Amino acid sequence: MKFRTLSEALVEGKTVLLRTDFNVPIKDGKIQDDTRLRESLPTIRALMERGAKVVIVTHLGRPKGVTEELRLDLVAGALGVLLAKPVIKLNDCVGPEVKAAIAAMGAGDVVLLENVRFHPEEEANDPAFAKALAEGCDVYVNDAFGTIHRAHASTVGVAAVLPAYAGLLVAREVKVLSGILENPEKPVTLVAGGAKIDTKIGILEKFLDIADTFIIGGALANTFLAAQGHSVGSSLCEADKVEIAKKFLEAAKAQGKTVLLPVDAVVATDATVGLPFQEVSVDTVPADQKILDIGSKSVILFAEALAKSRTILWNGPMGLYENPVFEKGTRGVAEAIAGTFAVKVLGGGDSIDAVNHFGIAHEKFTHISTGGGAMLEFLEGKMLPGVQVLLVS
Ligand code: ADP
Ligand code: MG
Repeated sequence: MKFRTLSEALVEGKTVLLRTDFNVPIKDGKIQDDTRLRESLPTIRALMERGAKVVIVTHLGRPKGVTEELRLDLVAGALGVLLAKPVIKLNDCVGPEVKAAIAAMGAGDVVLLENVRFHPEEEANDPAFAKALAEGCDVYVNDAFGTIHRAHASTVGVAAVLPAYAGLLVAREVKVLSGILENPEKPVTLVAGGAKIDTKIGILEKFLDIADTFIIGGALANTFLAAQGHSVGSSLCEADKVEIAKKFLEAAKAQGKTVLLPVDAVVATDATVGLPFQEVSVDTVPADQKILDIGSKSVILFAEALAKSRTILWNGPMGLYENPVFEKGTRGVAEAIAGTFAVKVLGGGDSIDAVNHFGIAHEKFTHISTGGGAMLEFLEGKMLPGVQVLLVS
């Protein structure tokens, strides 16, 4: 997979339309986590240093038309602080105001366009809208890995109008993730957790050819436990997916792969704080109780397998980590992964949130992907539409 990269792009004195993923969590008028802003800094700085005029386009949330809470003023302010240079925020992403502002830019200036999803044409990948977005710009750079699996006007459409290049973040994500797919150091362990089998079965199946060991936790594991004939009480369990889980377990066995499921669990009648909870074997889950975390024996079992791995890919918490009573499994597995010398790659909004909550330094991981859905789809082996338009043909 060979990209047209930033270093080959002629950007000196040019106006660059830069797609970033500034879809940051905002609560009570404050940015809760600015990782996505920080991750885009190397590309923005490289463009500024090379004398480009940087016109940034991003989405925020899922607005239906213009939505006041989803304007980008806060983001522009925070980005300006990180860059130590004011970022001019516009009130639209297309039209006469934008055209005039771009015409007035000097080398190294940074302008942030308004939330591109205020226009439904963005997600419809409308060609006329893509053309309007590109107006006044000479070069397109995509550094928004988090939305690269979406064929939208700002991720795919504009590449038909302007010469298109991969930003530094996109290039790094693709390099690390391709490395896992193509040439990982063995043994490889895939740690999968979280809530829904639908979003994870694709990667589990793809990794039958890549991973040596599968560690399955979270609510996801309940469906697999049920497939093995365990009774999971009143746990979150996708009864209609038990067949899929069974098929996966059979395929893994036929290929000589190791699949580790929890051997014990923390159960309660409900996840409400203050209710009694207990640790039980997965063979004795009471009918009226839910599995809300993996148990301490499972953590030890998983940690032993992790210690023997040379490549670890982790996506999805081991339990309902948002409640401190049910966070120990995720914490234990996170710390076990962080403590290995393997190539360690982490992805998924909730998993990253958990790692932050536990205070585990990001440096403990080889790579933390900025794309939840994009990472999963990439690792499933799909050609992502936003990646495709950046490839050397
Ligand atoms: P990620 O964002 O890292 O990809 P997911 O979105 O797939 O992860 O899943 C995270 C969610 O799964 C969390 O909200 C967590 O509370 C939930 N979860 C994990 N294990 C359980 C469980 N045993 N019961 C209920 N919810 C669970
Ligand atoms: Mg999630």
